[in-house]
Amino acid sequence: MILIHYGEIGIKGKNRAAFENCLVRNIRKALKGEIVKIRREYGRILIEEKEDANLNFIGERLSKIPGIENFSFVTVASPDIEDIKEKAFHIAKRMSFSTFRIAARRASKNFPYTSMKVNEIVGEEIRKKLGKKVDLENPDLTIFIEIGDKEAYVYKEKLRGIGGLPVGSQGKVVALLSGGIDSPVASWLMMKRGCSVIFVHFYNESLVASPKKIEEIIEKLTEYQMESKAYFIPFGRIQYDIVANVAAKYRMIIYRRIMAKVAEKIANKEGAKAIVTGDSIGQVASQTIDNILCIYAASKLPVLPPLIGMDKKEIVEMAKKIGTYEYSIKAYDDCCSFMVAKHPATKANLQDIEKMEERIKIDIEKIMEKAEIKEFSL
Ligand code: ATP
Ligand code: MG
Repeated sequence: MILIHYGEIGIKGKNRAAFENCLVRNIRKALKGEIVKIRREYGRILIEEKEDANLNFIGERLSKIPGIENFSFVTVASPDIEDIKEKAFHIAKRMSFSTFRIAARRASKNFPYTSMKVNEIVGEEIRKKLGKKVDLENPDLTIFIEIGDKEAYVYKEKLRGIGGLPVGSQGKVVALLSGGIDSPVASWLMMKRGCSVIFVHFYNESLVASPKKIEEIIEKLTEYQMESKAYFIPFGRIQYDIVANVAAKYRMIIYRRIMAKVAEKIANKEGAKAIVTGDSIGQVASQTIDNILCIYAASKLPVLPPLIGMDKKEIVEMAKKIGTYEYSIKAYDDCCSFMVAKHPATKANLQDIEKMEERIKIDIEKIMEKAEIKEFSL
């Protein structure tokens, strides 16, 4: 069986059952076809996998589900010291190691031995029969034993999950997804905190034949939330309008304000409560505090930038870890070089910006009509 431990959702008081059910639903979706049964118990989830299940596949999937702290492939024993001893011995016997320790945890107080005593009894068995040495500090092998009311679990490793909260437990957000490195990471961080992320991407339809690269990024991110919805918005006309009507140094700010307005509209339609961007303070000219203030003021909904205090280096590292980096660095003309000014404004003033913006006719309804909506699933 597979034993799953979750972190934070274990401490959410009354909402606990809802959180756990959400996580169970997500696991079911991610492992469909591979499992026979899944049940939740106090503080853990147990999965019975199919006899011919692909364990690598299961491990791969579980390592990407927000809310899982760690998981283990376990041997089930009855809550009986003799059976536990035997199962632990059986695991140890097949391993090559010279030092070991036993780490028992007794969740059921009905069990007659303390955790310490279980460590001693099982440790003694392995020490004697296999001639191995106990090392509590830095052992080659740790055998974990978890004793519940009806069952005990014996296993040799805890595989790491990504932690966080189960997707869907914190409502929906709309993420502004560019072709760059940052916004996919920002979207991922929101998923990790339990939000379902709806993507919006704007592109110049006369320069980009198909936003295939963006789809690849969304496919990668869908591994973490299982299902995604994305809005692809042709934005060529607005870009040309901005170029025709706004001085070069302010173009990016106005452009981003209009994106925020469209995102807000989509959020309202989808029942999402916030907009997410990949901004990080000072990384580019549009990301100075003053400019961010001008851009975010375009939306009545809160705009959340989860990367705001991170360095580029840290963001790149994270992008590599989650697997979006290799797609992000592919060539893509998302926002046409002609929008980028040689000397962009770094201290925009909101009132000035709002005045400039009046020169551009923005018909959000019409923009929305042209949106192409795509659904993605694992
Ligand atoms: P990224 O690496 O995410 O592209 P960046 O550092 O290149 O970010 P900008 O290009 O100024 O910075 O974009 C800032 C944020 O604005 C992006 O993180 C994204 O949230 C949003 N954004 C930019 N361009 C687009 C686009 N074409 N479609 C949707 N959102 C966009
Ligand atoms: Mg960018």
